[in-house]
Amino acid sequence: MAAEQQVMLLTGASRGIGHATVKLLQSRGWRILTVSRQPFSDACAWPAARENHVQADLARLEDVERVAEVVRSRLPDGKLHALVNNAGISPKGPGGTRLGVLETDAATWTHVLNVNLVSIALMARALLPELSAAKGCIVNVTSIAGSRVHPFAGVAYAASKAGLAALTRELAHELGPRGVRCNAIAPGEIRTSILSPGTDELVTQQVPLRRLGEPVEVAETIHFLCSPASSYINGAEIHINGGQHV
Ligand code: NAD
Repeated sequence: MAAEQQVMLLTGASRGIGHATVKLLQSRGWRILTVSRQPFSDACAWPAARENHVQADLARLEDVERVAEVVRSRLPDGKLHALVNNAGISPKGPGGTRLGVLETDAATWTHVLNVNLVSIALMARALLPELSAAKGCIVNVTSIAGSRVHPFAGVAYAASKAGLAALTRELAHELGPRGVRCNAIAPGEIRTSILSPGTDELVTQQVPLRRLGEPVEVAETIHFLCSPASSYINGAEIHINGGQHV
């Protein structure tokens, strides 16, 4: 009998780390359901991309249950093997400037926290029966900015990622007894469109490996955390930053 196909829900698949993760995991036999704000694009040339796409804006918390319902209806046997919460926003000021406490208004706080933190808690809650049925796992994409002041990431982004690290611990504690593992990955400077001018200098001065990370290097770690090779890892946050945190 053929092995059961593993199914993942990945948010923020349209570019960057999410895009690399879809490509890598599909090449390893996974079926990936994706969530993005944009309608399906023909640029997503991977197999079955169109029927596996769900359009939603995760800032709209009232839409999370609808997304979960669509996902549920597309699972052949009610099992979801992995939920990867990768979508994230890092708003900047005029000319790409950093948004500190003084520059951040209430609407920005709410938007960033809803996308980067609250929608993730609600999605995990909504899909717990399916994750539990598969003895699946959750991977949250945090950031080096969640644990130290970063020259480009703003205050709301940093606080949301610190909150997501805490949510990861809470989920590991609460869902572990149901057989669902929850871990986080904290990227540093990865070659994507989220990077700011000045990153090259920062990499030269602060990253021991003296280079940017590639999206596929992040995707490899996500794959590891979703595979049996990490079956006893729960509640961890793995740094993917060339040693920038040391
Ligand atoms: P990116 O901006 O290229 O991708 C972010 C994805 O999230 C996009 O697909 C975007 O459409 C989606 N998204 C944003 N807001 C959304 C919303 N409201 N609803 C639905 N989808 C939404 O950035 P990336 O670098 O690939 O980032 C992926 C994750 O990695 C993010 O959580 C980011 O915070 C984190 N991260 C990235 C870096 C880096 O160096 N690139 C460093 C640390 C953390």
